[in-house]
Amino acid sequence: MLDKARENLRLACEQLKIHPDVFEELKSPRETLAVTLLIRMDNGSRRAFKAWRCRYNDRRGPTKGGVRFHPNVSLDEIETLAFWMTFKCAVANLPFGGGKGGVCVNSKELSPTELERLSRAYIEAFSSFIGPDRDIMAPDMYTNGIVIAWMADEYAAITGEPLPMAITGKPIAFGGTVGRTDATARGGYIALRHLEASLNLDPAKATVAIQGFGNVGYHCAKLLHADGYRIVAVSDSRGAIYDPDGLDPLAVMEHKLHNGGILGAKGHGETREISNAELLELDCDVLVPAALERQITLANSDRIKARIILEMANGPITPEADAALTAAGHIIVPDILANSGGVTVSHLEWVQNRSGFYWDNSRVRDHLKTTMSTETQAVWALHNDMDISMREAAYVHGLRRIADSVEARGTQA
Ligand code: GLU
Repeated sequence: MLDKARENLRLACEQLKIHPDVFEELKSPRETLAVTLLIRMDNGSRRAFKAWRCRYNDRRGPTKGGVRFHPNVSLDEIETLAFWMTFKCAVANLPFGGGKGGVCVNSKELSPTELERLSRAYIEAFSSFIGPDRDIMAPDMYTNGIVIAWMADEYAAITGEPLPMAITGKPIAFGGTVGRTDATARGGYIALRHLEASLNLDPAKATVAIQGFGNVGYHCAKLLHADGYRIVAVSDSRGAIYDPDGLDPLAVMEHKLHNGGILGAKGHGETREISNAELLELDCDVLVPAALERQITLANSDRIKARIILEMANGPITPEADAALTAAGHIIVPDILANSGGVTVSHLEWVQNRSGFYWDNSRVRDHLKTTMSTETQAVWALHNDMDISMREAAYVHGLRRIADSVEARGTQA
């Protein structure tokens, strides 16, 4: 995956005529630590889990990125996600480099006590690799809420720091910030709203399909629905529901909380079950992939009908499919811009932890709105001025900032 992801870097280096030394530096991760976590299971046996943490590049500041618990996590995936974080933080103009971590585990198969032991073991293994000025962790897939609390608690115990600034996404009562939970979704929503006029998008008429109904998918659905967009389909790992008359995200969430999934939830008209693959191919105005990577590939890209794709997941479109969709005229708002709201508010948590002064919701939201609108405008302008895709524009925008920080240290960029 990293091989292909770095094509965007190579292209941006070419477009900006950046010194080859910068490509040489950015094409590989700076350091990745791999460990095996040995966990005592509830039945007394021991199980081994592979785990990684990658610090991709720290030119702009301490590395920053989430930790993912997923059965398909691999070294290549973690390094690719850390590469994307490097560019995401630069696009959002945060004083951070990029990092990422993960454990190869199906956390749904673990009991709460096993999950707690695994979360704490992860921190024990990486406690000297991370740090508030070195590498700052955060939530990612299947590491929301309680997992982050266990991790932060373990880090506090190991370091003797009552407030672990090396981890963001903490519960509010444990030094977290208001506005972090829906920050990723809100950031994407602000980006889309900012582009509405340029994209000729009328919320009162537009239809939206959202793949994924986790933290990001749900909050995206909620925010867009409140603005008048018609949410015609949502999905989870078991399948999707489609209702041309629209779905109410709050009712779907209510159903999910009572039934463990979205299947069976009813919308305003004749709701029917479809597959995750069918959801991607629906005839709608905006498609929001908010689940895993590599959902749109050359195998299905020619069947995608949505004019606009808002990438709330990391890497949901393969590079080959990206080229095909762009050539066919689809507008893709790229992940490193669209989902940068989460890390933007993580930065605010880190700032608040350091200053000891806590912000209210409106200040957090105002900051997020300013950041997302400014950077979306900058990427949109580059897209038009250089006649390149929004993804290429986002890489050019991020690379400029990274190259500047390389040059500012006296190294040629
Ligand atoms: N995991 C999120 C992402 O992929 C957030 C990272 C963070 O807050 O550091 O952007």
